Amino acid sequence: MTIALDALRAELRALLGPEYLIESGDSLETLSKDFYWYSPVLKRQLEEKRADLVARPGTIEEARQIVAACFRAGVPIVPRGAGTGNYGQCIPLYGGVVIDLARLDRIHSVEGGVVRAEAGARLGQIEARARAVGWELRCMPSTWMKSSIGGFFCGGSGGIGSIRWGGINALDNVKSVTVMTCDAEPKLVRLEERDTLKALHTYGTTGFMVEVEMRLAPKIDYDQIIVSSADWERLLDWCDLAARNHLWRKRLLTQFQWPTPSFFKPFVKHFSPGEHVGFLLVDRAQTPEILESAAVAGLACVYRQPLADPPKSPFITDFTWNHTTLWAMKTDPTITYLQCSFAANFRDQFLELHRRFPGEILLHLEWFAAAPDRVTRPNASPDATIVVGLPLVYFKSEERLREIIDACREIGVGIANPHTCFLEEGGRHPNIADKRAFKGEVDPRGLLNPGKMKTYPHNPFDPVAEAKATAALAAGSK
Ligand code: FAD
Repeated sequence: MTIALDALRAELRALLGPEYLIESGDSLETLSKDFYWYSPVLKRQLEEKRADLVARPGTIEEARQIVAACFRAGVPIVPRGAGTGNYGQCIPLYGGVVIDLARLDRIHSVEGGVVRAEAGARLGQIEARARAVGWELRCMPSTWMKSSIGGFFCGGSGGIGSIRWGGINALDNVKSVTVMTCDAEPKLVRLEERDTLKALHTYGTTGFMVEVEMRLAPKIDYDQIIVSSADWERLLDWCDLAARNHLWRKRLLTQFQWPTPSFFKPFVKHFSPGEHVGFLLVDRAQTPEILESAAVAGLACVYRQPLADPPKSPFITDFTWNHTTLWAMKTDPTITYLQCSFAANFRDQFLELHRRFPGEILLHLEWFAAAPDRVTRPNASPDATIVVGLPLVYFKSEERLREIIDACREIGVGIANPHTCFLEEGGRHPNIADKRAFKGEVDPRGLLNPGKMKTYPHNPFDPVAEAKATAALAAGSK
């Protein structure tokens, strides 16, 4: 590999120039990593992993030449958007070349309710461009200012807007993706509509995404609202009612258990000790009606601020979804988290978790439109809204964390485990066979982010896995 790498290094240097090929130093380390340290388990496992080189193509043709050169050298390739993933998705397990898409960030068009962009385009830029012509993103992660649309499609799932539109698997949110194959002569393969599902949320293992089309929603002018109550159940009843009232146009509804709000340092002045809070983004035209309903339910409105257009902070979204974990860890580095999907009896599930793990779990709930999900909930009713959440967990040991995860599963709480970097262990993939088959088509040598799709029976960088795959092939051909 060293000889191949030396030759590759020289080839890429000649192609990109020294400015766009990172060969050593802090930048190599930074661009090899993401927010994997959110998880004490991943921190231990991935701390020492890094790329040998980082290449930063400025055009799709340059990306094609990089992929072809890596293929000839037999070197792993790991695509990178903005590196805000938090399961080590873009950390190379076997070195090789990270291809950083930061320069492939052109927004080609926002027309007819569809954005067409290069995969490295920032969601924040897309949102601003869309809003200027009467549209907005249907769903986006709380890292929307920074993260790339390709990284969202390949590493994310949903977030702000998902209460109305679901996530990336939902409805017709993703119109098309164009991926580059990883072979001697890389080609572009365009997938449309349902077909895109085999390339979504695959951690860069199923082709190097270069261009995407995503459907947009008509723009709404929002108010950012925070309501609070010392009574958890009272707040929960109202938030759940508000979430399921489909006449109220919302982009976000989040509920936090005290003391979580105390971790949000820039906003802490708005909160009273002991009070749980609900965060909402609602259509400004409906604010009076919504606030009146909250007041009748006995909640206090402690914050109200229009969301600026074009978007300008403060954003209450900066405290929701997985940002909550970030604020908590800043205050107490022993805190970590889970990603849960609660059932219809979510109230019982909360009680049971608090009973079994007193003082170890702080609830953080998000409401999500579940029905339109084409992959995991194809038969849900059209108006289904579910409660998901990213509860904070006071970390004691990996064993204790496993106990909590097992207990969640035992009582019917779905877990997308954020403490693994392997695709299949991190969430539900009922269509994993399609994803695997597609990988076989676009990545015949298994060079794309090797190791992350664990059930792909070919990993040239892991001799044990490779021997098993060869034996299985030999057995199959007898
Ligand atoms: P990266 O981290 O760079 O990449 C993610 C994965 O996609 C990697 O496996 C990478 O190899 C692959 N990839 C990137 N670009 C390409 C490409 N062009 N072709 C093929 N593969 C590619 N996620 C959510 O879904 N919702 C949230 O609300 C949310 N909130 C977050 C809050 C915080 C504070 C943090 C740290 C993370 C959060 N995340 C969330 C995770 C992450 O920010 C998002 O999923 C984000 O969209 C990832 O985009 P990125 O450009 O940073 O991708």
